[in-house]
Amino acid sequence: MTITTILPAPATPRPGSRAARLSQPRAVDALKDLAIDHGVCIRPVALRRTDLATGKTELVDLPCGATLEAKCPPCAKRARRLRQVQIREGWHRSDEPILVRRRPHLGNAT
Ligand SMILES: [Zn+2]
Repeated sequence: MTITTILPAPATPRPGSRAARLSQPRAVDALKDLAIDHGVCIRPVALRRTDLATGKTELVDLPCGATLEAKCPPCAKRARRLRQVQIREGWHRSDEPILVRRRPHLGNAT
């Protein structure tokens, strides 16, 4: 009969090993958390802007404008606050629109 002893896993993984690398947060996740903490969009949309007078072109990052918290929490929070202000100021309709459906256009075929 043989007795095998199972050694417990070391508390700290060997430096430079895969386990040590995976225990560190990814840089992209750390940057996203930092942007969320400061209320900055985490998925900016890059637009190219050309100055017509000088002809210089530059890239401008615009906020994504997402309304879902799962996509971009800072933009969703900003959009929610904007909707609250618009509702408070009465920007909403008080009645439901009545949809009038027209007959589909069938072209010149008779
Ligand atoms: Zn965003």
